[in-house]
Amino acid sequence: MSNLTVPSWCKSQQQFLSTQVANNALAHAYLISSGKGTGKLALAHWLVSVFACNKRQIDAEDILQACQQCKPCLLKKASTYPDEKLIDQAGATVSVDAIRETSNFLQKTSQIGSGQTVIINHAEDMTIAAANALLKTLEEPTANTLLILLAENSEHLLPTIISRCQIVSLKTLSGSELSKHFNDTRISNLANMTFLPELQSSELYQHYIEMAQAFTNFLVTPSQRALFLQALNGHERSIVWLERVVTTLMRDKEQLIKEGALTHNDLVTLTKVLNSDSLPRIFQLILAFNQKSKTLVQANDTMLKEKLVIEIAQLMDKLEA
Ligand SMILES: [Zn+2]
Repeated sequence: MSNLTVPSWCKSQQQFLSTQVANNALAHAYLISSGKGTGKLALAHWLVSVFACNKRQIDAEDILQACQQCKPCLLKKASTYPDEKLIDQAGATVSVDAIRETSNFLQKTSQIGSGQTVIINHAEDMTIAAANALLKTLEEPTANTLLILLAENSEHLLPTIISRCQIVSLKTLSGSELSKHFNDTRISNLANMTFLPELQSSELYQHYIEMAQAFTNFLVTPSQRALFLQALNGHERSIVWLERVVTTLMRDKEQLIKEGALTHNDLVTLTKVLNSDSLPRIFQLILAFNQKSKTLVQANDTMLKEKLVIEIAQLMDKLEA
């Protein structure tokens, strides 16, 4: 299907995935997330070719490669391999029909061998109906299938979709290049800044951390909302960052400690004020904010943010009572 070259900075991801293939331990679904031009599609095609090949070989760098000679490899070369599908609606939304087609395809028995594979490029462009249809597929995975979602802005994906995928994050800079950029050791864990390429800038990262801290302080003491509001008004991407903090808290609270946004003590205090409802409901409020901000003129943005903060404060008070 494709002879894209996998960029050298994807090596560790290839090694990791090679081990999973070799141990027959691939997840049903992967989310490969990174900025434009970082090699997502090439990596996905490589994984599919290795998954399909009957005589895969391991190279000197512990990366599996397709043999290029077995039946699946030959069919792939001729673009007639029947067990793969690529959904790539560049510039358009990914429709519910495309996702239904995907689900049906994944339920078929593979014709050649190892299983059915689907790559969905620009997964963040799924319509709501498409996302819900995909969620069903993810909840009831069929054996021997491999679904690979690619996204540039995976913060636009439903958290319930993200949580059902194994996340493979790509970054354009290597660890040593990053540490040259950032002396602050707490930022050395940038490899985990899975979703937001802009946070590789140390200045924006600092904004992000301040926003995350202001938000978590606010959750603990909702009456003190001024600093949080100030942080939200401090940068145009702050709502996207807030979404990321909330979804990260939903998935893996420890991650925020690793990123330097929370200390262990902060997390203990925070956990006391949160119940199982709090974060999903805050996330809903943010989604509602996004809807409204799309339909209103920019001048109302500050007002909308103020309203969001008040709504979250009310929610926290109510859940506590
Ligand atoms: Zn082969």
